[in-house]
Formats: sequence, structure tokens, C-alpha cells
Amino acid sequence: MNAQKLSKRLETVADFVPQNAVVADIGSDHAYLPCYLVHQGIVEKAIAGEVVNGPYQSACNEVKHEQLQNNIEVRLADGMEAVEPEDGVTAVTIAGMGGPLIATILNKDLARLQTVQRLILQPNIHAYAIRLWAQTNGWAIIAEEILCEDEKIYEVLVLERGQQKLSETELLLGPHLMAEKNEVFVNKWQGEIKQWEHILASIEKIEQTDAIIEKRKELNGKLALVRSVM
Ligand code: SAM
Repeated sequence: MNAQKLSKRLETVADFVPQNAVVADIGSDHAYLPCYLVHQGIVEKAIAGEVVNGPYQSACNEVKHEQLQNNIEVRLADGMEAVEPEDGVTAVTIAGMGGPLIATILNKDLARLQTVQRLILQPNIHAYAIRLWAQTNGWAIIAEEILCEDEKIYEVLVLERGQQKLSETELLLGPHLMAEKNEVFVNKWQGEIKQWEHILASIEKIEQTDAIIEKRKELNGKLALVRSVM
């Protein structure tokens, strides 16, 4: 992967960035995504935000290497602190982290989302946390993608402002993904079912403490939800 050729995962994120958006890529690491967006003529101006010094340096180096210093500003900052109101950011991308961390980053600085019209989020795990954050904070999921790359399954969620009430099944599986129910989706949830059944079989044999009973209830609940869709 490089600034000209992204991974399938990041290319899917890039596909949802609107033409001429002012984009902030939070947790940018190598800054491949903002560099790619400028090279493709999708955006002219971008911010690459990074909280850790090593990845921040590598983002600075990449932007310099691609000669995009006039287009991309790399900022060492925690989450949305990379974004100032005068930047006029209209789209935010956050990719390659867990869903709960992405939700925490968004929730910490709601005021910094004021100018933002679209969020493109790619959680590696627990997309549930993002869907829950969205419906609690006035964002609607307008599109979702699920893809497999190097034997790993990734979800991409696209949010715009709006009210949306999701059922527990939709929070877990994704309203668009469960409607489409493509092959990757079916593989993902068949794998989860297998894993949950395995855990249930092992914890049924041990002492039934309150915690174990609670865990069994949780897993049986999730199994029922997912089986109802498959
Ligand atoms: N977004 C890139 C991608 O999808 O390939 C990099 C993903 S990398 C696994 C996650 C990056 O997010 C790391 O470089 C990490 O330092 C950064 N990160 C984690 N928490 C952050 C935060 N609160 N603010 C900014 N960056 C953060």
C-alpha cells in the first residue's frame, strides 16, 4: 500500500469522501488516505491528525515525499483536537481502530463536528458502538460496506446528520448490511455464531456463578438475534 494505491479497506473509505470535501483523517498514521484523496483530485485540502509521535513523523514524511505540503497539514493532536472551526472540515475519516475508540474520539469533542456533514468510519471490531453513538447523537447511517481483505473482515459506516432509530439487531449487524446480506456478511456472522456456540458449550460445563449466568444470557440473546437474520 502507498499514497497512490491504497488497500481495499482504505479505498472503500476513500470512495465515500465527497468530491471537494475538506477532510480530516483522524489517526492517520502514514497519511496514505489523505495523500491518495489529493492525488485522485477528490479533495484539495486535508488534515492528517495523529496522537502518537512515531506515526505523526511518518505522516509528515509521507506528505513531504508526495510533495503535498500545500494541501495536507499534519497535526499532532488527540482525536478531534486536530480540527479547528476555521478549517471548515466537511468530512471526517477514522479508520483502523476499534468501534468503541472511534465512538470515544467523536464523543469527546462534539463541538468540533460543527462544520462536518459526513463521517466515514471503519471500525476493525465492534461497529455496534458506532451505531449506538450515531443514533444517540443525531447521525444516521446512510451507507455501509463489508469487505474481506487478507482474510480479515472490515466494515465501513457512512454517517450524515439525521435521526435514526435502530433495533438491537440493526445495531449489532448494521441496517444496510443486514438488508443486503452479502457473502462476506454471511461468512462473518456464521463465524461469530460458531464461536459463541463454542463458548456456550464450554461455560455450560463449569460452575454457574452469577457472571457465567449473565454471560450465557448475553450470548444466547446475540445468537437469537443473528440467527433470526441468517
Ligand atoms: N487510519 C490508518 C489506517 O486505517 O490504516 C491507521 C490505523 S492505525 C491502526 C491507528 C492509528 O490511530 C495509530 O497511528 C494511532 O496512533 C492513532 N490513534 C489512536 N488513537 C488516536 C487518537 N485519539 N487521536 C489521534 N490518533 C489516534
